[in-house]
Amino acid sequence: MQQSYSNEEALVLTSGGQDSTTCLFWAVKNFKAVHAVSFFYGQKHAAEIEAAGAICDKLKIDLKTLDISFLKDLVRSNLFQGTPDVNAAHALSPEVPSSFVPYRNLLFLTLAAAWAGTIGVRHLVTGVCETDYSGYADCRDVFIKSAQATLNLAVDFHDTKPQGVVIHTPLMWLSKAEEFRLAQELGCLDFIINETLTCYNGDGTRHEWGKGCADCPACRLRAKGFLEFKQKYE
Ligand SMILES: [Zn+2]
Repeated sequence: MQQSYSNEEALVLTSGGQDSTTCLFWAVKNFKAVHAVSFFYGQKHAAEIEAAGAICDKLKIDLKTLDISFLKDLVRSNLFQGTPDVNAAHALSPEVPSSFVPYRNLLFLTLAAAWAGTIGVRHLVTGVCETDYSGYADCRDVFIKSAQATLNLAVDFHDTKPQGVVIHTPLMWLSKAEEFRLAQELGCLDFIINETLTCYNGDGTRHEWGKGCADCPACRLRAKGFLEFKQKYE
């Protein structure tokens, strides 16, 4: 981060997973105070919501959980309905995994910006990443920059000049291995391995790289990234 924000506060979008938890630690290091927001949207597994709550409790970060479970009635994703096969293609496109939730990140960022404005915070932090993920259009840097511009236009009053929302994406260009290295630099590697849950199946089985079923795409990515991290950086 080029500018210092050590006198300002941040709101981190959190899910109890590796990415958002690494972002929480990153925000704690870079901002004066950190708040968190998580989303309940009818995921098959309540485990990730519970993980987000437990993680924020441990870090003494206040967490606001927003219920947006209406989303499952509006869009298609195998997080909500249909095939349990996480490797299947999405109904929208053969290029996109069935786990994709259309418009999710735009909704998340809009709601997070709304809450941030209410509590007087202008910095949002999200763990989206363009490097390792294929097909998730709303994880791309160009989408985040566009969302930031749109959110600021939405409250662009001519008679006042509020400081605009800034969306930080510390993981945007990192591989999974580099993300583990960032966790090591932030002093939270053990916490990330032991406390976070990324598995699509909500499986809590423990491995060297963390908890999960070891078979879904998220677990495979995490296990592969951890192995690469150990080989390159340890
Ligand atoms: Zn898994």
